Amino acid sequence: MKWKDDMEIDGYVYTLGIGLHNWYKGLNEGKLLASICKYCGTKYIPTRIYCEKCLKKIEDLEEVNDMGYIHTYTEYCSKVLVLVKFEGYEGGIFSELEGVKVRIGTKVKAVISNGTLSFKIME
Ligand SMILES: [Zn+2]
Repeated sequence: MKWKDDMEIDGYVYTLGIGLHNWYKGLNEGKLLASICKYCGTKYIPTRIYCEKCLKKIEDLEEVNDMGYIHTYTEYCSKVLVLVKFEGYEGGIFSELEGVKVRIGTKVKAVISNGTLSFKIME
């Protein structure tokens, strides 16, 4: 199956909801934030409001070290869509890179500029 048209996603408004409010607030302050479940200790990035493991409400946050790794990726045209994960945290961040070669496990550094998150290859 091939997609032959453009998807006009720019015309839609994405509502963050309360779950990602802290995540984007952190980015605007130049921080990567994670949620920590005080009941089971699970840490989530990006932030969550409920723990997926014990279903309790999460209110605690912590700043995450900016070093992550590529968990998986796919290449298309000259771009690479990567899923970046951080040691000790559930979840991950999708990001698009261009003009780079990656492999699973490649170390990346999170770079936050004007509230926007991107990743720099470190290997
Ligand atoms: Zn929990």
